Amino acid sequence: MKVKEILTGKEGRKLFLLGNEAAVRGALEGGVSVVSTYPGTPSSEIGNVFYKIAREAGVYFEFSSNEKVALEVSAAAAAAGLRSFVFMKHVGLNVAADSFMSTVYTGVRGGMIVLSADDPSMHSSQNEQDNRIMARLAGIPLLEPSNPQEVKDLMKFGFDLSEQFKIPVLIRTTTRISHMREVVNLGTVIQGKEKGYFKKDPSQFIVTPAYVVKMRKELIEKLQQIEKKSESSPLNKIIDKGGNEIGIITSGSAFNYVMDVVSENNLKVKILKLAFSHPFPEKLVLDFINNVDNILVVEEVEPVMEKEVLAIIGKYNIKKKVYGKLDGTLPRIYEYNPDIVSIGMAKIVEKALIKRKKLSTKLPLPLRSSVLCPGCPHRATYFALKKAIKKLKLKEEEIIYSTDIGCYALGLEPPYNMGDYCISMGSSLGIGCGFSKATNQKVISFIGDSTFFHAGIPPLINAVHNKDKILLVVMDNRITGMTGGQTNPGIPLDGMGNPAPEVSIEKIALGVGAGLVKTIDPVDLKETEEVFKEALQFEGVAVVITKHPCAMITDVENREKGISIKYTINQEKCTKCLICVKNFTCPAIYIEKDGSVNINPLLCDGCGVCFQVCPKKAIEVKK
Ligand code: SF4
Ligand code: SF4
Repeated sequence: MKVKEILTGKEGRKLFLLGNEAAVRGALEGGVSVVSTYPGTPSSEIGNVFYKIAREAGVYFEFSSNEKVALEVSAAAAAAGLRSFVFMKHVGLNVAADSFMSTVYTGVRGGMIVLSADDPSMHSSQNEQDNRIMARLAGIPLLEPSNPQEVKDLMKFGFDLSEQFKIPVLIRTTTRISHMREVVNLGTVIQGKEKGYFKKDPSQFIVTPAYVVKMRKELIEKLQQIEKKSESSPLNKIIDKGGNEIGIITSGSAFNYVMDVVSENNLKVKILKLAFSHPFPEKLVLDFINNVDNILVVEEVEPVMEKEVLAIIGKYNIKKKVYGKLDGTLPRIYEYNPDIVSIGMAKIVEKALIKRKKLSTKLPLPLRSSVLCPGCPHRATYFALKKAIKKLKLKEEEIIYSTDIGCYALGLEPPYNMGDYCISMGSSLGIGCGFSKATNQKVISFIGDSTFFHAGIPPLINAVHNKDKILLVVMDNRITGMTGGQTNPGIPLDGMGNPAPEVSIEKIALGVGAGLVKTIDPVDLKETEEVFKEALQFEGVAVVITKHPCAMITDVENREKGISIKYTINQEKCTKCLICVKNFTCPAIYIEKDGSVNINPLLCDGCGVCFQVCPKKAIEVKK
């Protein structure tokens, strides 16, 4: 399937779509006008598709500088009467939370959807946050799809719901839903309005105490109205497999695992699948509870619905047992799968359940730590910095390395071991400020270009203003690398592929008053080492920008130009000192069974840094 078919596929056609692709199609069928995001896995593919089709679709799309800005862009569009869609990974909603909470108060005029892609089991995230709790905290309606078809359909439903009640709507997907593929029935694409008009009304859009007191009351009234809607919504349905002994309440991807186990074992149960799950449809759930003997709640990650069910049971003084996470029937942590659900259900059904075949293969896969790619410029940065530290005779234990969210965090792996503290996007420098004040140790903070624009500028201002002693290394690989290569404000292209002004990291650093600011190409090891030596001795805030394109970019560019440079090892010159293998660690360089050192031409990116690393000049361009 070509990506463009997500836009051009006609009504009635079927496409085999990822959950994330289905979200794009759902937005288009819902008549979206403005789309914004900051890239974050597992939601990244939504942005990658919009990047390719937005112009043709007549939709405005941007990779905003962070999630808060993205949310504000979409909120303003919805206030101007347009339909808007903002999406992010679950921790992105933390960044956006300040404006997110207030936008629920002010409400919207055009439909607005906020999609949070949660990541149970933390496949690519720093925590296992369940944003269904954020829905309750904010007081926003919540929709939970279980498959790509539902993702698409709920997008459209969400826009209508949002406009009917003048409130944004939250859609919560999880990694399995975002990355699941399914045949999806297409509806009609509706062209969104090109421009809206913002009719002024401070009593709706200014959150001062004079207005928010009224807004809060209105929000509670809205939620009561929306709860009535969720009570009768066909999105919340009962699947009756016969028998009243066990009633299962479930949502999202957990529903799929429940259905697998129930079907495999032909279990006589009733299942209440909630796709419109906040405001929690109390009467619907109460009726369901009254019609079964025991209740099992199956959900990922937190016992959110389970607590709602227990509250209903308490409120109506019902004497029935509720099984779930809180009593240990199912685990509280990590994502589920049919095996986990089967083990949990086996504890409460009379019948012995079919033993599921283990999903894992018996292939002898070696355990590997994460590594920077062959040709990655970050490796050169770490190598040169390590050498500079050694030359200055600085003690490693006297240096604190605060790193950040991005590929470069892999510098924490041996042999570099340059990562001591990392908690969130943009935190490396704020943490650095703290260590600069709290200790006499040398502080080195690492941050990527995209992360610098996202949340690195306020802490740089903080460091300068508070006279911290920090070396900040901005590892500018000319792309948002870890999420698959999206544009950012440092690149002369916007989110729709149009030319855009390139924001200079160097000028920002100079502008806020950093004492020493240097930009270097880390692939030149000698010069990089010299710059680091100077920066390490600087008393104040020093900023070194190591600027070189990500190996993914150079690979594509070289292929397009028909350039193929590979390096090889001259076995006559090689003394097997292993500096290239053990100190530099490019994955393309390996030790043969006979002890000789070689370069795998399939992995070699031709960056030429190993050529500078070898003390014997044994590494050469392959003829
Ligand atoms: S650094 Fe040079 S001499 Fe040492 S093992 Fe590698 S290729 Fe051989
Ligand atoms: S040139 Fe050397 S450092 Fe660069 S990718 Fe090839 S083997 Fe690795």
